[in-house]
Amino acid sequence: MDPTTLTATQIAKEYRRRTFSAREVTEAHMKKITELNPSLNVFLEVFDDALAEADRADQTLSNEGDTAPLLTGIPVALKDNILVKGKRASAASKMLENHVATYDATVITRLKKEGALFIGRTNMDEFAMGSSTEHSAYGVTKNPHDISRVPGGSSGGSAAAVAAHMAPVSLGSETCGSIRQPASLCGLVGLKPTYGEVSRSGLIAMGSSLDQIGPFARSVSDVELLFNTIRGIDSLDGTTLPNQGPTKVRNKRIGVPRAFVKDAAGDVQIGFEKSLQVLREKGYEIVDIEFPSAPYGLAAYYIVMPAEVSTNLARLDGMRYGLHVPGKDLLEEYKASRSAGFGVETKRRIILGSYVLSSGFYDAYYKRATRLRGVIAEDLKKAFSDVSFIATPTTPGPAFKIGEKSDPVSMYLEDIFAAPANLTGIPAISVPGVSVVRDGVSLPVGVQFMSPKRTESSLFDIARDFMNETDTLLQS
Ligand code: GLN
Repeated sequence: MDPTTLTATQIAKEYRRRTFSAREVTEAHMKKITELNPSLNVFLEVFDDALAEADRADQTLSNEGDTAPLLTGIPVALKDNILVKGKRASAASKMLENHVATYDATVITRLKKEGALFIGRTNMDEFAMGSSTEHSAYGVTKNPHDISRVPGGSSGGSAAAVAAHMAPVSLGSETCGSIRQPASLCGLVGLKPTYGEVSRSGLIAMGSSLDQIGPFARSVSDVELLFNTIRGIDSLDGTTLPNQGPTKVRNKRIGVPRAFVKDAAGDVQIGFEKSLQVLREKGYEIVDIEFPSAPYGLAAYYIVMPAEVSTNLARLDGMRYGLHVPGKDLLEEYKASRSAGFGVETKRRIILGSYVLSSGFYDAYYKRATRLRGVIAEDLKKAFSDVSFIATPTTPGPAFKIGEKSDPVSMYLEDIFAAPANLTGIPAISVPGVSVVRDGVSLPVGVQFMSPKRTESSLFDIARDFMNETDTLLQS
């Protein structure tokens, strides 16, 4: 049995049957990385202590047997913006090329406690800004389904790692679609949790009112397993929500915002209809809903996000962290360090953000975008008073060619279906839907389900129904 073909849930079960050791599983994944990384450019670093951690996991498995923590010896790949004490975290930027984390992100503390081992850090768009991983300072990551295409972004490396079986599961982060969109383009399950469900402590910040860490996997159960491990209130992040038991939605009604869905490519819409038919056959009721503010989500996002980016990245001034370029005075040093350290897209957003926050423009842009966020939340509240889920395609199309979306606005449109969930804090999951063909290659496209805040467990139910998945957790 090749362990790289298995899900994390299956590996955990096999450990308990003594089919193989954590060392064998880790080595098998590392072999895939050695084989595939030169062509795919997924991992920026494979951690040098991964095998030592695997040996420790084997000790735990032999000492504790079935009572060992659930994730013992499960290799997890990490997006390069999640801090692991003593390891580099560069957010795929020249600015933080040699930045070594001085503490563990809360998600890391929780995964460690549950026995997980970290196999390496994955490529991403610089500071999580982008939808293709082309904005990395360390080269583009290729889509394992077609290496002339992007894996999506910004968590493109974490998605490609799982799609190419270099890791069974990984963590990414979302500000607007950066888990769901690469999950869609790589044929994976990806979850954007409810805002505040997962601590942001130790996540290199992009847009603090939008950011959430979330998992990628090849099964719903694996996504659920990781989510249940990393979630929960955290004194290090004041926006985390108080702990509560799983909340379920009331019924099996799915709302489809028909006018909004028309933004997807023709064949993606046809595939989406087929996916809805699958759900009907599973006892779900599909109804049309109005979501009039949906198309404005992206416009609001591209004001709020750069405003927060310009603020969060102000700390990267060449003095406190990362790259330092000498100059004749302090201002020159700031300018030289930031000019050399940041890439083009990052600079574009810092400039945009400074502009929308400047006096005279604040009311016209930032304040109106904030109000629009409220309008979108109202529309969703109204929709959820009738339906339990809202379904759309995850992305307007499948993976696009490297270099195809060189115009920034065409790239921004990738996130059209993602924006409402991030702007309003609701959870959303992407699952593989019906593939479409481009240039003779069959490419995955996701179906997205959104639901009211804190009803992730219902998203797992519908995702499992849709995928016909029966492989369940070891224990709940
Ligand atoms: N693709 C979006 C952007 O470029 C979202 C990024 C993200 O979710 N981190 O901003």
